[in-house]
Amino acid sequence: MEEKQKFYAMKYKDDHIRMNSTSGGMFTALANYVFNLNGKVYGTAFDENFNAKVIGINTIQELELLRGVKYVKSDLGNTYENIYEDLKRKKIVLFVGTPCQCKGLKNFLSYKNISFKNLYICDLICHGTPDERVWKQYIEFINKKYKSEVDKYIFRYKGVGWRENNIFIRLKDGRKIINSFVIRSYANLFSKNLIITKGCFNCQFKNLKRVGDITIGDCWGIENINKNFDDNKGVSLVIVNSTKGHQLFSKIKNNINFIEVEKEKCLQKNLVEITELPKEYEQFWKDFNKKGYKYIAKKYSYYGIKNRIMIKLKEIIKFIIKK
Ligand SMILES: Cc1cc2nc3c(=O)[nH]c(=O)nc-3n(C[C@H](O)[C@H](O)[C@H](O)COP(=O)(O)OP(=O)(O)OC[C@H]3O[C@@H](n4cnc5c(N)ncnc54)[C@H](O)[C@@H]3O)c2cc1C
Repeated sequence: MEEKQKFYAMKYKDDHIRMNSTSGGMFTALANYVFNLNGKVYGTAFDENFNAKVIGINTIQELELLRGVKYVKSDLGNTYENIYEDLKRKKIVLFVGTPCQCKGLKNFLSYKNISFKNLYICDLICHGTPDERVWKQYIEFINKKYKSEVDKYIFRYKGVGWRENNIFIRLKDGRKIINSFVIRSYANLFSKNLIITKGCFNCQFKNLKRVGDITIGDCWGIENINKNFDDNKGVSLVIVNSTKGHQLFSKIKNNINFIEVEKEKCLQKNLVEITELPKEYEQFWKDFNKKGYKYIAKKYSYYGIKNRIMIKLKEIIKFIIKK
């Protein structure tokens, strides 16, 4: 019989690693365990042209390629076939991905009739994945705007805190930029659900019947659950779903700081509710296909001066009403 699903808030013990992780660093804790067993870890990395691709790595040194969320749909390539070959050779494998990627893997391996014994699956809480065409045009737009190419991109830069959702870019000419209007336009379109791929609006995985042995995400609301556990450097929400997940968690628990949390206190919208399709979605895509990134950034995000003025006006009205 499967053990009961459990919920934890966790922080990786090494603060340097945690600061370079998206939430509390649970991914690194899982990956380290698998490397100690001489296993292989699959996750999403950027290639040199900022294409998001699922790759397999064998060493701790390569982990920084996978660390850090990439808010764009990642290309699986031959990942499922490669994992099948690894499992045939009795290799321990950890796969981390969106619930749909995890489900695809499970279906593929079931079809191939291979044992899951050596496979750990970790699914992410997922708001939805942005379309890679928008991402590609956005990167080109930045390259042009700053007259230098993007060298490093961090979606969730923690320099000023985990909650603040800051974006950090280093350009090839050495300039470092945090949060300009140009840079924030993509995150702004993402938060409005405009660039999310259409299939995500019918996601089957927005519930607690999780695909992975373990599910990870941000532990939003930790300040209300346990104030002392929160230092604004990042806390992961870890949901342990299967017996194998429980075994895995017990193997790594000495390397992490964690507390058990009540389910009701940590259920965020993106875990259990389908992402809402925005009214402007069809028009947005017509505009994007016809006119490209700069146009849609101006029209729909606060890169556009009109939108910024509107936001300021709304803030002023709110302030006056409050008074
Ligand atoms: C598109 C997307 C939407 C998300 N939405 C939410 C949300 O709404 N709420 C929430 O709590 N958490 C969400 N997450 C998960 C969260 O951002 C962190 O990835 C997670 O908390 C892991 O934290 P960590 O500190 O262990 O991560 P890190 O050490 O930073 O590791 C990040 C992990 O995410 C994987 N990853 C990165 N980009 C992608 C990608 N494009 N596709 C698949 N896997 C990827 C990497 O392989 C790595 O395993 C989302 C992740 C993605 C990819």
